[in-house]
Amino acid sequence: MKVLVINCGSSSLKYQVIDSETEHVLAKGLCERIGIDGVLTYQPAGQDKIRYEAAMPAHRQAVELVLKQLTDPENGVLSSIDEIQAVGHRMVHGGEKFACSTLLDEEVLNTVEELNDLAPLHNPPTLVGVRACKEILPDTPMVGVFDTAFHQTMPASAFIYALPYEYYTKYAMRRYGFHGTSHKFVSQRTAQLMGKKPEDVKIIVCHLGNGASISAVDQGKCVETSMGLTPLEGLIMGTRSGDIDPTCIEYIAHKEGISMEDTMEIINKKSGVLGISGVSSDFRDLDNAAAEGNKRAQLALDAFCHHVVKYIGSYIAVMNGVDAIAFTAGIGENAPNVRAQVMKQFKYMGVEIDPVNDSIHGDECMISTKDSKVKVFVVPTNEELAICRDTVEIVTEQIVKDAIDTVMGK
Ligand code: ADP
Repeated sequence: MKVLVINCGSSSLKYQVIDSETEHVLAKGLCERIGIDGVLTYQPAGQDKIRYEAAMPAHRQAVELVLKQLTDPENGVLSSIDEIQAVGHRMVHGGEKFACSTLLDEEVLNTVEELNDLAPLHNPPTLVGVRACKEILPDTPMVGVFDTAFHQTMPASAFIYALPYEYYTKYAMRRYGFHGTSHKFVSQRTAQLMGKKPEDVKIIVCHLGNGASISAVDQGKCVETSMGLTPLEGLIMGTRSGDIDPTCIEYIAHKEGISMEDTMEIINKKSGVLGISGVSSDFRDLDNAAAEGNKRAQLALDAFCHHVVKYIGSYIAVMNGVDAIAFTAGIGENAPNVRAQVMKQFKYMGVEIDPVNDSIHGDECMISTKDSKVKVFVVPTNEELAICRDTVEIVTEQIVKDAIDTVMGK
């Protein structure tokens, strides 16, 4: 099955076409500056990237351009758009309504729309993208894969906030967690690399990218995760503060004489390792600055690692043990110095890192020694492939169900 995977932002649209049988990416690209002017990037497998400007007043035109490019007689990878048998959409917030991926019919889209308050920056553009796709490909099944879904197995004791209970019942305020597609993919792959079933292991997944989160996965189910109602909670991130005393927000607004919106902008976009270092949100810049003696860059790196250690330690306690720890995303996959600094704190419980394996960049690998009591892995995340797999599963289930209904004369 050829699956178009789409990830819509407010002014961007990332796409991949994946052949689900081989799991090969046939082409991928990005539409940027939607609603401003429009730039399309397109890369067929094994070929150079093409980039050109094209008017994209709205997401609809972006989807049309992507389909035109994919079927281009010269460098397209599809003979016609009918070859696309399903579309998988990355959806950010499914609230408590979606604990797994689902076919996107009008009723589901309306339910997602009702959740817009929980993700005002992310859900509305995704819905615009899905609706544009549905208009252009009305007969192609569309599946929504939610970033929050994998974390829906958390027990209430882990997701409830210690606020008046009616805020949970009235406003659905609770911990949801994000990056769920990645946490699911990486935890399942880690179990596979250990030669075990997910049901037989306790795994901690450290998704350390510009946005960063950690989850505890016990017997294949998420039991805790660091992000909360929004992706602001938890670890120190590139530009987000992560956990702080909530009073800081009132204090900043008061001392700086700024509004709540401006304060939240600072907490989201000017904090994290960027805020501490004053140098950059990118760990490569921080490494370089720290090597040149920049003390704030070093402090940012140390504080980041300290928080990762704290979360891993607490999740080991939550699960009453751990069999494997997996690192993924930009920093997790590419920064052995961060992994080493974090993992040295777990020597006491038998974690032994193999320095040769740990020098790798970006490849899947066990970085602990064979004898390490707790195994440590680098597992590159692949959210698009995870979306493709879920899409195929849901669409296939529906095809079987329809066939049975036909036979039964329903
Ligand atoms: P997101 O998807 O949240 O934008 P990514 O998972 O792509 O983030 O991670 C991006 C981050 O990964 C960069 O900001 C940078 O800090 C880090 N990163 C990427 N490559 C390296 C590297 N070689 N060494 C250290 N950090 C890296």
